[in-house]
Amino acid sequence: MFNLILFGPPGAGKGTQSERLLEKYQLAHISTGDLLRAERAAGTQLGVQANEYIAKGELVPDAVVIGMVRNYILEHTDASGFIFDGFPRTVAQAEALDTMLEEFGAGIDAVLGLEVEEDELVKRLLLRGQSSGRADDQSEETIRNRFQEYMNKTLPLQSYYTEQDKYSGVPGMGEIETIFGDLCSQIDQVRS
Ligand code: ADP
Repeated sequence: MFNLILFGPPGAGKGTQSERLLEKYQLAHISTGDLLRAERAAGTQLGVQANEYIAKGELVPDAVVIGMVRNYILEHTDASGFIFDGFPRTVAQAEALDTMLEEFGAGIDAVLGLEVEEDELVKRLLLRGQSSGRADDQSEETIRNRFQEYMNKTLPLQSYYTEQDKYSGVPGMGEIETIFGDLCSQIDQVRS
């Protein structure tokens, strides 16, 4: 198994790069944001509850997302590995992920962080909001709150994975293809 975490703030390009990476490396993709939006679209109780947090730009409680990821992994046990996109977002989520993967004799192989300046992130999210219809991308206040959550709860994971010698930063500004090339070189180094 090869398990990769794409790390970075909202709007860093994790979804865009995940799509390319999963095709090239034949990995399964777990985006907790997508899973939560699918629950909401299906009108499940989980989806309705999660939406209250998403709309405010707050993180959904750990137990909810951890349970969702666990189910997804159990449904994809034949995968040759996973790209985690938007998960883990807290230290508790990272610890739960380590425990889940241990059950399969696996672990996280690499964490690649897309580095983008905050002004550029706001621009990208507002632009995405115009076409995606995502309400959380249309309000600058919600966007700023998501950054706050990122700084407070998610950024500590950078040290968590640096201490395990798994974290590498990749410049996330510029051409999508160039960024993809940088990510691939990092992955190829770890896999070789
Ligand atoms: P972005 O990375 O651009 O913020 P996502 O689609 O990954 O977009 O996430 C949208 C929202 O879904 C987040 O703002 C948060 O409310 C919720 N969410 C997604 N993943 C998680 C997670 N791992 N833990 C808690 N909340 C999450």
